[in-house]
Amino acid sequence: MNKERVKKIAQRVISKSAFTPPIDIIELSKRYASYYEEELPLGVDGLCIQSVLEKPKIIVHTKQAENRKRFTIAHELGHVIIPWHLGSIACNPNSTDEFISEDIEIVEREANLFAAEILMPHKWLIKKVEEHNNSVEFLINEIYNEAQVSLQATLIRLRDYIGFGYHFLLTRDNNIITQIQTVGTLYKEKVNSIQEFQSYFDTKVGKVCIDDYIVYWFREDYGIAKVAITDTRSSNEILNAILDDSYQSECHSKLKPRINGIFGAANSRIREHSSKEEGLVFLIGKSFKGKKDLIPFIEHSDFNSFVINKIDEIINKTKK
Ligand SMILES: [Zn+2]
Repeated sequence: MNKERVKKIAQRVISKSAFTPPIDIIELSKRYASYYEEELPLGVDGLCIQSVLEKPKIIVHTKQAENRKRFTIAHELGHVIIPWHLGSIACNPNSTDEFISEDIEIVEREANLFAAEILMPHKWLIKKVEEHNNSVEFLINEIYNEAQVSLQATLIRLRDYIGFGYHFLLTRDNNIITQIQTVGTLYKEKVNSIQEFQSYFDTKVGKVCIDDYIVYWFREDYGIAKVAITDTRSSNEILNAILDDSYQSECHSKLKPRINGIFGAANSRIREHSSKEEGLVFLIGKSFKGKKDLIPFIEHSDFNSFVINKIDEIINKTKK
């Protein structure tokens, strides 16, 4: 998929039109194609009809929610404008779990990307993010209301603009509609219920109610920096040194198995994970957090090196 090229094409269309959100997508489409609303067969939200001889036609299914229809129109406009999208295409752009999921065809993904860029333009979004630096709640609300797109489209778009480590859970009537994560998120698994989401990400889960929907989110903070290893000692040597510094010697024999147990538990939980190293950093950071008796250990300046070296040893052991 030619992501950057598609984005540039959409950005050019927007800056030429001088439209701002909410983009008048029907008016914009009429500049490039004839626009019709009709009842289309089940499973078809929109059609784009192109031939060499005639002006392209965009036909959109009448009966769809307004926000959804807007996305469909913008998607069809993408097919009309992106130069390598040829011929006639029947589309269902709102059906997939993720608009850019790998399962759908490249042209469909490109048209979705185009639609997102048209309805939530880059420059406008950058400004929004700057205005509401730390408030996910404000951003979701404003993008959704001003751009007049679905919440799903809002969250997918937002994920490239806010910091890494965010997890969003979009729900309606206690059912999960989709789970969306931002770049750099370590915990990649899908949850099965809202309760599971809340229990994984403890009490810091944010929540915003919009129309019939509730969006939950959490930002990963695992407290361990995954830095290059500079400490050449073995994890066991670092562990002994930290214990010597921070605890009386009679505690060592109790603390050592407890600390090693945290790694063992995390390792067995993450065994099948595709990015095991990152997962271990996250889970171990999380396990150490709330343990009061280990606070002097966690706060020791060598704690980070200990964790990183220990994870490195675990990974190397599994490779052998
Ligand atoms: Zn399409």
